[in-house]
Amino acid sequence: MSCDFISLAASGVQDLHPYQPGKPPEELERELGLKNVVKLASNENPLGPSPKAIAAIKEYLNKISFYPDSGGYRLKEALSDKFSISPDQITLGNGSNDVLDLVARAYLRPGDEVVFSEYAFVVYSIVTQACGAKAVVTPSREWGHDLEAMLAAITSRTRIVFIANPNNPTGTWVTQEQLAGFLAQVPSHTLVVLDEAYIEYACKDELPDGLDFLEKYPNLIVTRTFSKAYGLAGLRVGYSVSNLQIANVLSRVRQPFNVNSLALIAAENALGDDEHIAKTIQTNNAGRPFLENELHGLGLTTIPSVGNFITVDFKRDAIPVYQAMLEQGVIVRPVANYGMPHHLRISIGTRPENERCLSVLQKVINNIE
Ligand SMILES: *Cc1c(COP(=O)(O)O)cnc(C)c1O
Repeated sequence: MSCDFISLAASGVQDLHPYQPGKPPEELERELGLKNVVKLASNENPLGPSPKAIAAIKEYLNKISFYPDSGGYRLKEALSDKFSISPDQITLGNGSNDVLDLVARAYLRPGDEVVFSEYAFVVYSIVTQACGAKAVVTPSREWGHDLEAMLAAITSRTRIVFIANPNNPTGTWVTQEQLAGFLAQVPSHTLVVLDEAYIEYACKDELPDGLDFLEKYPNLIVTRTFSKAYGLAGLRVGYSVSNLQIANVLSRVRQPFNVNSLALIAAENALGDDEHIAKTIQTNNAGRPFLENELHGLGLTTIPSVGNFITVDFKRDAIPVYQAMLEQGVIVRPVANYGMPHHLRISIGTRPENERCLSVLQKVINNIE
């Protein structure tokens, strides 16, 4: 007799739902026979990767028969120079999601509690549940993190608090003052993971730089990624910066070659390409108000965002809107899995991509109503 292999899985894993990614453009092209599909679904860099990263990868290609540098020496040196931190504080990951997973695996026992907000990035709940820990989800405040509620939810069993700043999928943020007040009150046995995947886009003076708090708060872990502004989502590379002991612990559970050699060399070179980052930020700073205004002009409401995406309220089931946009070759992101069935998340693209998205959206809205 065959086993039920679902019920054989670890208890947290039995109820887990796989991560739902944005639809790849090739898939839509295959399914509908479309060309020129626009993907504004995964907050990728619409300008593509840094030309310096591409050149470095090309030059490195004949060396991929060698294992990567497991310690990531050159990338860590580059990060260390740029941010005035010790290379030993850095943990490299196969995307920053890998680092989030490492923190969970290294620190969570079944029964431990993990605090995060309603509408927070879904990977926090996945890594928590996979480890058999208990998710304590606090209600949001205007779609964003309610840090007071999160503080109140911390108990002697709380091992980790996850905060995304800004948050995905809502684009909301916590201010310097709010974060400082929060960190000062978190007990030292609770790790605070501050996920700064979109920090390069952050445009407001009031937005904190997590690295500034590391010295004062040894329980803080800041994660960042090359997937978003740095345009290397397909290569998978991210990192955390933390206290040395935490970095040491993470290095014990990390797979020996978790970041591949092309990702390492690309990240190092992308980090040094100030021109590409400046252009990227400029494109986003122009695109965000443009898209927001036009969406408001269509009678839609948006959540204020400091990221490279805007989450739009359709005040009705948004899935038919998503589907109709797909048929017109524009991929955006449903967020019903976050408990936001009336919203869609739209990544900010180039001006032509934004215009195409808006014209398709206008057509779709007219047809649906
Ligand atoms: C996109 C994103 C990441 C990045 O994940 P990678 O694994 O680095 O690609 C991390 N956190 C949040 C909140 C994100 O939206």
